[in-house]
Order: sequence, then structure tokens, then C-alpha cells
Amino acid sequence: MAKGIARDMRKGKHTSSRRRTTLCGDLARRGMSDLNGVIDFLSKRRQLVRVKTTVDPRYELGAVAFKFHGGKPVLFESVKGSPWAVFAGLYWNRAVLADLFGLPETRLPFHFAEAVAEWRSAPVHPVIVDSAPCQEVVEKQWDLRKLPAPLVGTREGGPYLTAAVIIARDPDTGVRNASIMRCMITGRDRMTCLMDIGRHLRDYYERAEARGQPLEITINNGVDPAVHIASVVPAVAAPIELDELGIASHLLGEPLALVKAKTVAVEAVATAQFVLEAELLPKLREPEGPAAEVTGYYAQKDNRWVIRVKGVTRRKNPIWHTIIPGREVHNAVGLMAEASIFRSVSSQVPVVKDVVLTYGGCGFYHAVVQIEKNIEGMERNAILATFAAFPSLKQVVVVDSDVDIRDPQDVEWALATRFRPDRDILLIPHARGHELNPVTDAGLGCKIGLDATAPYPRPQQFERFKVREVDINDYEIEPS
Ligand code: MN
Repeated sequence: MAKGIARDMRKGKHTSSRRRTTLCGDLARRGMSDLNGVIDFLSKRRQLVRVKTTVDPRYELGAVAFKFHGGKPVLFESVKGSPWAVFAGLYWNRAVLADLFGLPETRLPFHFAEAVAEWRSAPVHPVIVDSAPCQEVVEKQWDLRKLPAPLVGTREGGPYLTAAVIIARDPDTGVRNASIMRCMITGRDRMTCLMDIGRHLRDYYERAEARGQPLEITINNGVDPAVHIASVVPAVAAPIELDELGIASHLLGEPLALVKAKTVAVEAVATAQFVLEAELLPKLREPEGPAAEVTGYYAQKDNRWVIRVKGVTRRKNPIWHTIIPGREVHNAVGLMAEASIFRSVSSQVPVVKDVVLTYGGCGFYHAVVQIEKNIEGMERNAILATFAAFPSLKQVVVVDSDVDIRDPQDVEWALATRFRPDRDILLIPHARGHELNPVTDAGLGCKIGLDATAPYPRPQQFERFKVREVDINDYEIEPS
């Protein structure tokens, strides 16, 4: 049914707006409207690692997963104490992700930005369906402690849900919100979680809490990449009055299907593997942490928000999805931020050609900006504009267009041969950064800009040598 709607929409029917509704994505048509489709696709493309040996979700599964960090995604087919497989590493390799979306790697951030732009101008809202795979089984008896949520870091406080998309409704307007937050299992029906400052979910919660009311949520574990991307879109791109789940429709190429939950008045993702129907309790905080975080450090234990689970539904044969702290999280931030930084910076500094948030900088703190220099000084403006576009940044390196910004060694080459430390450092002390970065004082710290561009016009000693273009297929080579 949903497919038919999408087709009609492409033809321009069912649209209330004068603008023609378009959908840039085609994940659904390519069979990837759920995690099973994604795993099949990866398997066919020989991009999936299958671990056959039984692994313990307590510390072992994560340790084995880390052996493949940044490579192919991993399916743990046998997990101790669980009848279900565990899937990890879907987001830790941009080349694999690009293949899922059928795009070159460098296009990926712009594809996501295009989906957001389409949605902003003519949104294709989610549809509510009557029956859904995520409710094939309605559990009568359940215990969260039996889920195969792994303990990864050796000092973590408990098993974490790291891939779960939380859906809630604004207590005043009813607008839906989707986001990912870490949830630690603490009891049969209980979890504690982190709600970052500035998140819409926290805003919803605080308004419900002020009235002494719980905030109902669904916790959707094992969703398709379209829903995942939609839920990590930053608040600047998806303001509080809009339901960002619509972005998933634009990536899927058809309206996203949701289903009403059984015990709470919030929708769940129809194709999710597991749905925990729950509420965030008011006026209550309980211990959460330590947690292995995006920074590579443990987030410290503290009293944080409490979730009470009221019901569990799932597929007949569900797969537990987990995100391993590291590149998976760096990509979630970086892929969404790069396109938005690029748009914002290029509107002010037109010579900007490309932006990357590096893995070494946690996808958060370090940017490399590539410019086509046509006048002296624009590189410094590019640094300032980049900091303004993404406040979490601590370091910006600006390079010329002959430097490959996705190759850390090439960026280092530019620093080695074009950067003069006595003249090309910009220090911005006492500026607002990211509070999770332990080198800041609760987010307050110094930012640094590094100008690694050659002077303009380019003196001869800065001309990088080139070789002729050849096609290697024209040559007989052994071994081939
Ligand atoms: Mn939102």
C-alpha cells in the first residue's frame, strides 16, 4: 500500500501543496526498508562478516566487533543467553554505507542534506498502518535483562541500548520527535538514560515533568538506515515544530510506515525488530553510567532520567541491533554535519569546495576545509565561518584544492609544507565548544584554526608536481 502512495506522490497526486513532491531516495525500492533487507544486501555484496562461534554479550561481543572496527558490518549469529542474532557496525564504514544508498561516498552527506531540504519544502509524512512486523509477537512476559544488549567497555555500568530510536509526542502540540539516546538496562522493566541539553525529547520531557506527568515513548530497536538518519538530523535542520520522521520517507522513496503502540499513545516504527513501549518518569533520577562514549572516554556515572517499560513487541525472528562506540557514532555526527557546514560556509565564503569531520576528531571536533583560493585572506574567513557553522568544533584546518581532505597524510603534508606556525595559527580562547570533550571546562575552551594553504598567487616553489593521467587497464601487468 505504502508503495502505491509513493508512486502517486511522484506523479504529483495526493499533494496538498502546489509544489511537486519529490523523493530523492530509493532505499525501499532497492529492498532496504528494514534491517533484514540491509543484511541481505550486505551479504549478497560480500560486505558482511558472520561470526559463527557463540559470543557472550558481556564484554566479548564488543571485543570481537572491535576487531572489525571501520571495516565490514558484523552479524553475531550465536549469542550466549539469547535466541537472537546481534548486528553491529552498520555505520562504521562510509564506503559500505554509500553502497547501501547506491551513491559515491563523497555524495552521501549531500544526499542526506537533499532529503532534509525536500522534506522542508514539501514533506511526505509517515503513514499509520494497521498491522506491522514489529508487532508479530506481543510479549506477555519479558525481562529487559534477557535482551542481548552488550556490555562493551570493561568499566561500563550496565548493558546499553545504543541504536534505539526513541519516538515521543510533544505534550502540547502532539508533534512527533525521533532521536537516539543511550539507555542502560537497570532492571526487569527499568532503564536509565541520558538526555542532552537542547534535545527536543528533553524539552518535551521537561514540560511533561513540570505537570507531574510521565512522557510516553516507544523505543525502536533495529530500524532501517532511513529512520536512523532521520533521527540523527540536528535540531537546526529539523526544528521542534516539525516531525523529522518524515525525512525517512524521502530517503526510502515512499512514506515511512508507523504503527500505534499497544500500551502507550505513541507510534512505533512498523519495520523495527523490537519495540519497547515505555514512559520517562517525572521527578525521578537514578544512577546511569559509566558509558563508553563518542569521545573515546567513559561518560561518568551520575543520577539521570528513568524509563519504565510497559510492554514489549517484536518480530517473530528479530535481530538485535547495536552501535559500537567509535566510528559508527563519528559518522552519525559527521555525515549530518558536513553538508550543513558546507552549505552554511559556502554561502559566506564561496571559495569553499569541501568539508570533512575527521574520525580522529570524533566526527565532532576537527574539521578539514578545502578551498579554491582566489584572493589572499579568504582561508581565514573560511576558518571563522566553519567555527560559526558548527559550535562543537575545536580545530579547523584549511587546505588548498590540490589536497585530499579524506587522506590524513595528505592533510599532514599540507601542514608540513604550507603552514607557518608563527603566522598561520588562529587561537580563539574562552569559546563555547562541546561539553562531552574532557579538555574543555564544561564546554568552554580554546579553539584553533590552522591555515595550511599556499600563498596566493601561488609562487613556483609551492607548485605540487603532477603526473599524466593514464588508464591502468590499458597495461598488461603481472601479477594481475
Ligand atoms: Mn525534533
